[in-house]
Amino acid sequence: MKRNVTIKNGELQLGGVPASALAAEYGTPLYVMEEETVRRNMRAFRSSMEEFYGEGLVCYASKAFCCKEIYRIADQEGLGADVVSLGELYTAKCAGFPMEKVCFHGNNKSEEELRAALEYGVGRIVADSLSELARLSRLAGEMGRKAPVLLRIKPGIDAHTHDFIRTGQIDSKFGLALETGEAMEGVREALALPNLSLRGVHCHIGSQIFQVEPFVEAARVMMEFLGDVKEETGAELADLNLGGGFGIRYTDADEPVPFGDYMGPVSRAVRETAEKRGLSMPFVLIEPGRSIVGEAGTTLYTTGPVKEIPGVRSYLAVDGGMGDNPRYILYQAKYDMLPACRADEPADRVYTVAGKCCESGDLLGENVPLPEMKEGELLAVLSTGAYNYSMASRYNRRGVPPVVMVKDGASRLIVRGESLEDLVQNDL
Ligand SMILES: *Cc1c(COP(=O)(O)O)cnc(C)c1O
Repeated sequence: MKRNVTIKNGELQLGGVPASALAAEYGTPLYVMEEETVRRNMRAFRSSMEEFYGEGLVCYASKAFCCKEIYRIADQEGLGADVVSLGELYTAKCAGFPMEKVCFHGNNKSEEELRAALEYGVGRIVADSLSELARLSRLAGEMGRKAPVLLRIKPGIDAHTHDFIRTGQIDSKFGLALETGEAMEGVREALALPNLSLRGVHCHIGSQIFQVEPFVEAARVMMEFLGDVKEETGAELADLNLGGGFGIRYTDADEPVPFGDYMGPVSRAVRETAEKRGLSMPFVLIEPGRSIVGEAGTTLYTTGPVKEIPGVRSYLAVDGGMGDNPRYILYQAKYDMLPACRADEPADRVYTVAGKCCESGDLLGENVPLPEMKEGELLAVLSTGAYNYSMASRYNRRGVPPVVMVKDGASRLIVRGESLEDLVQNDL
């Protein structure tokens, strides 16, 4: 296994704490987040922004993992945050996160959400449609504010193919298209509406991307657009938000690119296009989510019955499943797994790891390499820090498990697990 896992006397250690000690203290299933990994990733993004742009803002895309503590950590590390709902915005506010460093996204924000964004003083509202621009200007007028706006643009790049393609018009519910003139119309609208202050443009080309070229191409397309905006309207917009989407390692088949390898070529494309189009360097923002928290997370489960079906497969049951990790059932996502207390044993078997929901598709993986497994063992699923807790559900009325943060041999609860009382608290 190429990934960095710490094993001591055969046992997986998380933030210096033996996995079995965490399971004994908090129970299973348990989400464990390693604080040093989160902070190291945040610092790596920040320092590469400094290296390649001198300034700029790294906004943590909090939909990947959202709770008060992650906003506190992001703030301590000097990051901004990207939010996509009133719930995320409210969580950030409750954590005391500086609102001027928040970007608010969404393809269909409600009036309540837009009002809250204005009232809280969110630094950038990323408008996704022409009707949203009008709504936002009206609300800002009613509230006696000027709304700071970025426009979400579809750069027409499909990164989710083996070799990325520049399609004419990608089919996406997000943003304004360049080819149809909709994006330029959005700019004219935003400049004309009385209560908007157009700060710049935004794009986000996808997620779990391992290639550098789609990011470079998106940066070039966006800078060319800023050049067109200046020519056609005279306005030179300051902000260029290039979104997130950097790939991480889930299994050994994944080869993530070091952050600097994206940032260098992308910043060169920005600089070259700025020079070519006679623009000043923009203020650059990026929005990594998965790449900050994904590899920092591990989920611990206790194994249940093993069912060997001769000539078919072996099922290994765990005490969680699609409720705490819906990524297999959603996208057949693959994860590396280890028996936490025999973590250095060779994986000479394969199992179908099944959850405990009443749903045949409730699996965490198929053909997962593991040593021979028994009932009542601790199983660790690696790289679950992103889009697990944040996508969790209460299907079958199972409470969402707790989240603990580990660091320097100590652990602390950062999200309580849901109790039976929590499950019925809203029932009338
Ligand atoms: C989801 C999302 C991100 C983060 O994507 P990751 O793949 O987690 O880095 C950033 N920006 C926007 C607008 C998003 O929707």
